Amino acid sequence: PPPAIICIGMAGSGKTTFMQRLNAHLHAQKTPPYIVNLDPAVKNVPFERNIDIRDSVNYKEVMKQYNLGPNGGIMTCLNLFATKVDQVIGILEKRKDAGSIDCVLVDTPGQIECFVWSASGAIITDALASAFPTVIAYIIDTPRTTSPATFMSNMLYACSILYKTKLPMILVFNKTDAQDAAFAKEWMTDFEAFQRALRESEEGNDEGVGGSGYMASLLNSMSLMLDEFYKHLDLVAVSAMTGAGIEDFMVAVKGKCEEYERDYRPEMEKAR
Ligand code: GDP
Ligand code: MG
Repeated sequence: PPPAIICIGMAGSGKTTFMQRLNAHLHAQKTPPYIVNLDPAVKNVPFERNIDIRDSVNYKEVMKQYNLGPNGGIMTCLNLFATKVDQVIGILEKRKDAGSIDCVLVDTPGQIECFVWSASGAIITDALASAFPTVIAYIIDTPRTTSPATFMSNMLYACSILYKTKLPMILVFNKTDAQDAAFAKEWMTDFEAFQRALRESEEGNDEGVGGSGYMASLLNSMSLMLDEFYKHLDLVAVSAMTGAGIEDFMVAVKGKCEEYERDYRPEMEKAR
């Protein structure tokens, strides 16, 4: 069965650019993806969508009508969309049965927590995951995550998303044209290297943690926990800008789909 890939990441991490690059890559491979946009607030999407939340709900109108701010507007749009999720899955399944879908690509709202922590986000994710082997692509802004403390915060966030969605996850280190991701690979596989980096940053005092022993010791024990978390993840280094690493990403997706069938689907069926 074709995979569904849900792109999640902090604002500015490069989700849209990544989707655009993936879309171009899959078109070139003659396996065009089926694209679902779940960001009601986005103005311009630089690629064709097959299903777009903006076709069924008007973000600006929703904000006005219910007297909401930006986040409330996004949540309400997602709620309204979630009431139609059966229809959407119906369309996707018909396509799947006809063999005309090779891959479903889902873009999520810029405000990550609106999607990850809302009831409707969970409803949409679960519906998708019951119809397709579903993988989370967690996009990371590599140049902005080179300090040990920022890196750790980002990994903890990824960890919380993994536990919330209970879906296989790929960490996508983006913007590697600007910053090599070798440091991340090292920190994720070599616990001592990460601790060394922590110590050095403490000495250099560039994290604002120098001198305060509690921060270093907190980071230390968290990194032990993360060590376990990393075992469940795949890491790929890409540049959405240049296209480097996109094939590695697709290979990782294939691996995660197998994992989904083996580990996640039985769990999901048990939970139901
Ligand atoms: P989103 O908010 O997660 O959708 O992020 P965007 O795709 O809009 O990208 C945010 C900014 O990062 C834009 O200025 C992009 O041009 C830039 N960007 C995205 N991917 C890359 C990349 O691979 N390399 C570089 N150097 N910049 C990138
Ligand atoms: Mg975007």
